Parts: sequence; structure tokens; C-alpha cells
Amino acid sequence: MEESLPLLAIQINEAKYVCKKCGRAAADKRLLCKPTKLASLLEIPASPEN
Ligand SMILES: [Zn+2]
Repeated sequence: MEESLPLLAIQINEAKYVCKKCGRAAADKRLLCKPTKLASLLEIPASPEN
């Protein structure tokens, strides 16, 4: 597990996708089960519920 941490850190640092199911972030959407673009999340307008 420790050996994979640097790789994981790189993936998170360069993450362009986040998994809607488990919340993981990755640069490659193939690493995620329900990938969605981070950019698309940022483009969501503020919700009245927030
Ligand atoms: Zn997932």
C-alpha cells in the first residue's frame, strides 16, 4: 500500500475525474467506476438548498 501512495498522490493532484459512487479522484476515468469530470462539477451553479 505504501508503495502505491506516491502514485495515488499524483493521481489526485492531477485528477480530472471524480467517482460519483465512491468519491475517489483520478486523472484517468478508467480508474473509476462512476467517473464524472471535475470540471463539470465546478460548473454546477450554486444550489438554493446550500
Ligand atoms: Zn467509484
